[in-house]
Amino acid sequence: MNCSHCNSKTIRGKSTRYHYVESGLSHVYLKGVTLWSCPSCGEEEVEIPDPAGLQDAIARVIVSKESRLTGKEFRFLRSYLGHSGADIAARFAVARETISRWETGVLKVPGSADVALRYMVLTGKANHDYKVTDLNEILESRCRIKFLEAKFQDEWMIEKKSA
Ligand SMILES: [Zn+2]
Repeated sequence: MNCSHCNSKTIRGKSTRYHYVESGLSHVYLKGVTLWSCPSCGEEEVEIPDPAGLQDAIARVIVSKESRLTGKEFRFLRSYLGHSGADIAARFAVARETISRWETGVLKVPGSADVALRYMVLTGKANHDYKVTDLNEILESRCRIKFLEAKFQDEWMIEKKSA
């Protein structure tokens, strides 16, 4: 692995718990991932196996959370679906600025938009093991989530931590 900053050869470092802020979410931690460090510039990079699988796993958990989507979660799911803010604004018949206000937390994400976006995630990706009828089940079994811990063992497994 080469450093993305200076292209020097990096050194395999420790296995660590990593706060995955690159997801755009503030409550996702990766357990047992490998940190690589660069002896030249000091940059540290985390190695994430199967990044697409990780996005799938996070999206699946967020969709099943009990409370209203936060702005960051809304943005995560919207990007996960491959939609720009303008795309979603058009679909939800609101102004582009309204989407920004939801995503930055200026305005609370309305309940209708929350459910609609979850529904789009559940039905919008063909490679998911969800069916349309799963939505009710998921909404009924929603759980409180304080933070998420993801661990890679052949695939990404996510533990929901409520405290
Ligand atoms: Zn470097």
